[in-house]
Amino acid sequence: MRLRTLDAADVSAPKRQDRKRIRIPRVGIVGTGFVGSTTAYALLISGIAAEIVLIDQDRRRAEGHVQDLRDAELFSHHTRIFAGDLADCSSADVTIITAGVSQANSKSRLDGLWETAAILKGLVQDISRHNPHGILLIASNPVDVLTYAAWKWSGLPASRVIGSGTTLDTSRFRRRLAERYGVASANVHAYIIGEHGDSQVPVISSARIAGVPLKGFCGQLGLCDEERAIKTIANDTRAAGLEIINAKGATYYGIGSALVRIVRAILRDEEAVLTVSNLVPQSMELGELFFSLPAIINRDGVARVLSTPLNRSEQKALKTSAKAVKQYVAALDRLSLSPREMLKGV
Ligand code: NAD
Repeated sequence: MRLRTLDAADVSAPKRQDRKRIRIPRVGIVGTGFVGSTTAYALLISGIAAEIVLIDQDRRRAEGHVQDLRDAELFSHHTRIFAGDLADCSSADVTIITAGVSQANSKSRLDGLWETAAILKGLVQDISRHNPHGILLIASNPVDVLTYAAWKWSGLPASRVIGSGTTLDTSRFRRRLAERYGVASANVHAYIIGEHGDSQVPVISSARIAGVPLKGFCGQLGLCDEERAIKTIANDTRAAGLEIINAKGATYYGIGSALVRIVRAILRDEEAVLTVSNLVPQSMELGELFFSLPAIINRDGVARVLSTPLNRSEQKALKTSAKAVKQYVAALDRLSLSPREMLKGV
């Protein structure tokens, strides 16, 4: 049998005018230091973005990363990676902001608040002007304060201004629990909520392993007095970031992977539950603030913030965490960088 040769009319490739309508997932990364460049690499390896635009005030650095990342393309995924400016975020589905000051000499995530806030204010206003329909994903620290401020500065709906929040802390917590109890971290359901910082709250009362409440699972293993071990795990989780910074100057693999996980949930409309930083529901009576609670993430950003059952001491700890975040916002508010001041102009 002879194969018929296809003529042009048989070929079902989209015509030029149709091709214009095809959505090409684009992700912008603003700030290409440790966190931004690692996120770009993780994104390339994941294959979920067709285009990645890298933006940095140090254009040469961004261009260097572009060349280095393109060298990995043959071994990963065909992706259009280029160095650009904020106008290139106009068609980005998600713009990730990792610009800020280096973590190397910081003792806490609050160090550098003023400098980073000043940097972010201009960036957020420009990005939201160029792209009023995209999603902003903030990683710069202190992430809860800056995501709240970015919401105010941008004028975007809260559902489309997301902070990486405690996604990273939750991963650290689940890994440690998994290691102690000999299961994969994917089978551990436990959240760190509240501030991405010292006042974060490990939710132990509703933690489960393979569907079994943590206490019951420990009982099955013959471990009857695990309170102290779990407390140590929670403390180690809280201190993990600083420990890495003390050892090597910065953290980037964990946060880079967490950011890509959030981007995947958005681009693939996953309805995934992740502990991102977002506007706390009024029903919690904690006032107006951003911090992390488990939230459903889909193509539109945060679809819904979930209410997590908490015991009395966890409720108390969450209130303390809210107070801490609001104090930093109030400090920012006293400066001309005030998100509330900015809102007046929106
Ligand atoms: P870094 O110093 O390596 O990189 C910062 C980059 O931002 C630099 O390349 C700098 O040139 C760029 N930049 C500064 N101002 C800019 C501007 N106006 N426009 C464009 N680019 C600009 O720092 P890093 O280690 O990558 O950390 C970046 C931020 O991420 C910090 O705020 C850090 O605290 C934060 N971080 C957050 C988490 C988290 O879990 N949320 C984890 C790690 C780091």
